[in-house]
Amino acid sequence: MKIPQLAVIIPCYNEELCIESTVSKLFEVFKYLIDKNKIKADSYIYLIDDGSTDSTWSIIAQLHNNDSRVKGLKFIRNYGNQKALIAGLESVNQIGCDCVVSIDADLQQDEWAIEKFIDKYMEGYDIVSGIRNDRNTDSFFKRSSAILFYRTMNILGAKIPMNHSDYRLVSKRGLNVMEQYHEKALFLRGFFHEVGLKTAYVHFDVKPRAAGVSKFNFMSLTALALNGITSFSVVPLRFIAVLGFFMALFGFAAGVEAVVEKLLYNNSPNGMATTIILLCVFGGTQLFCLGIIGEYVGQVYREVKARPRYIKDIELK
Ligand code: UDP
Ligand code: MG
Repeated sequence: MKIPQLAVIIPCYNEELCIESTVSKLFEVFKYLIDKNKIKADSYIYLIDDGSTDSTWSIIAQLHNNDSRVKGLKFIRNYGNQKALIAGLESVNQIGCDCVVSIDADLQQDEWAIEKFIDKYMEGYDIVSGIRNDRNTDSFFKRSSAILFYRTMNILGAKIPMNHSDYRLVSKRGLNVMEQYHEKALFLRGFFHEVGLKTAYVHFDVKPRAAGVSKFNFMSLTALALNGITSFSVVPLRFIAVLGFFMALFGFAAGVEAVVEKLLYNNSPNGMATTIILLCVFGGTQLFCLGIIGEYVGQVYREVKARPRYIKDIELK
């Protein structure tokens, strides 16, 4: 296999404190890999400004002026990290490259692991996924919610490995496959795992954030998880049907039992408490199930509208 031209894509949302040092650290990695003849000299970095409100974009433009190996794209507003990644993957496929690695702007992922990604690529893998060695740099909430999410996904049938991340290499072939998937709410971690391309795993260390604060909060993590689940599994819908069936069966049996007691022993079950408990249990279950169905209806609604995934404002190639 010939030496690849590598593109590194970085989603950036209000990362003015990180970008410059991140880019220069990545160029050190580039230099090392070019010297070792592992990547081509025209490899480049592609930064996606996800509607930042700070000076992120002017820094990107400045870096581009100094060195044309820095390219960039500005969204007209914030679309979230998944959309920024998708935009990066699509854009570098248009610009041209043999493989692409996505990494975070805060460089929490060990950038030197890129060498291992390239080695796997040279062995013929189309996807190389980064697996975090641990989650010590995450808050307790994030750690436990991540474990819960991956467990749920696995139970529901989308077998995504634990501690998966968006630190991954995708080959040109992988990018071309992705182009054929038009769904708007593409969930990359699930997609690249499921699509069936030859996949390898690389373990890497996670560092604390270099500067600034995490751009994810409870709401955005929940939205990401719900999108991941509803775009990859219909098991929750089946679960609802089964649950409904057994609840109805139970209700029917209890009804028969009450009638029998009344006729044979003249005993009627005692009132208020039973009624309230049953109302709460059944009412709650129904609302919960409606909520799950609602998530899927929402997913269909978004896909049917077929709005563009994102709108580009400015692109520097
Ligand atoms: N990010 C983005 N859009 C958003 C939120 C985050 O492009 O709406 C980017 C962010 O700039 C960073 C990456 O996604 O490059 C991961 O975000 P962060 O480091 O804040 O997440 P954490 O490491 O806390 O999971
Ligand atoms: Mg981070």
